[in-house]
Amino acid sequence: MSLTTQIKEFALDIGYSKVGIIPAESFPEYIADLTNRQEMYSFYIKGAYRPLLGAEPRSLMPKAKSIITTVYDYSQKNFPKELTEKVGRVYQARCYNAPPERINGARPQLMKNFLRQLGCEVGEKISLPERLVAAKAGIVNYGRNNFAYAEGIGSFIYLTSFVVDKELDYDSPSFVVGCPEGCSACMKACPTQAIYEPLKLNPRRCIAFNTFITQDRMAGSYIEPEIRDKMGTKIHGCDICQEVCPRNQARLKEKLLEDEFLVKVAQDFSLAKILNMTDNLYLSRIQPLMYNYIKEKKYFQRNAAIALGNLGDPAFIPDLSVAMHDPEELVRGYAAWALGKIGGQLAKGILTEGNRRETSEFAKREIRDALLRIE
Ligand code: SF4
Ligand code: SF4
Repeated sequence: MSLTTQIKEFALDIGYSKVGIIPAESFPEYIADLTNRQEMYSFYIKGAYRPLLGAEPRSLMPKAKSIITTVYDYSQKNFPKELTEKVGRVYQARCYNAPPERINGARPQLMKNFLRQLGCEVGEKISLPERLVAAKAGIVNYGRNNFAYAEGIGSFIYLTSFVVDKELDYDSPSFVVGCPEGCSACMKACPTQAIYEPLKLNPRRCIAFNTFITQDRMAGSYIEPEIRDKMGTKIHGCDICQEVCPRNQARLKEKLLEDEFLVKVAQDFSLAKILNMTDNLYLSRIQPLMYNYIKEKKYFQRNAAIALGNLGDPAFIPDLSVAMHDPEELVRGYAAWALGKIGGQLAKGILTEGNRRETSEFAKREIRDALLRIE
């Protein structure tokens, strides 16, 4: 059996749905696209992933010869509705940053071990443009919503690549947009118009990005009020442009098995609980589920405050009142925004009281803006 066949069969055996292979050449089109839009993507270009270097794999691994790319289908079980209205499916599926002792971290580790057993050197910490790699290998094609779609699955997939120092047999590309002609359902459904033209996303407007790039270490923690208004109840990710997509309807309508783990998790995912969560809830339930994509508790609390404001239900005023005493100014400021959005005399009284004792400039500004919206 050839090296290529052994690798592909192993990948399929450990649960990947598709596997393809391309030469480890540079991706000049990706470099040009990121560079042209560096204002939008500066947080990513300058961040720890170093995508411009990853787009030239041999700059990080001079012996690189091939890239093996895989599709993992993370939508094989049902996602509970109580979670889906708040958390994107890929995060519920625990695909990003999974540690090796969990299944989605163990799978790539098994793959690397196998490649090494076959005598391959395997690159580490090379952030590849995964969608482009997979399209070049013919295992996905693009949707106008910027997601990659795998035949027979849809866009609820997670792509992982491995760079190796061996020459292998290469696959043919599938550089097509596989969408029905004239469809723009994703662009119309996006609440923030983040998809500003087919295949072009402004991450600064995307709800998903706003839930997690707005961390101080990445792009500052501030979320524009105009975006907050449109975040609905999303606290980690957003699947709207995938949910409306005709290419995902077969999977979304399929009768799938319940995911018993997520059903249990969903019980702890009430917005009010997250707004004022204890360290114990955060460490035992929220943070392990998300594997640190959002690094600190306060960002989840901020997002929960926004979601409660968007629900507009006065029943949550007592929870927001508690959050106005949170040790984090970020949480107090966004709780104030939410109270302003819910409005009414009770909310106004809590904001006025908060304004008297508040010492943070940021939170004070949010309180004043909230009061202005009520008056
Ligand atoms: S993830 Fe949500 S906000 Fe982002 S482009 Fe899609 S629909 Fe718009
Ligand atoms: S909604 Fe329509 S245009 Fe958008 S990705 Fe799906 S098929 Fe393509």
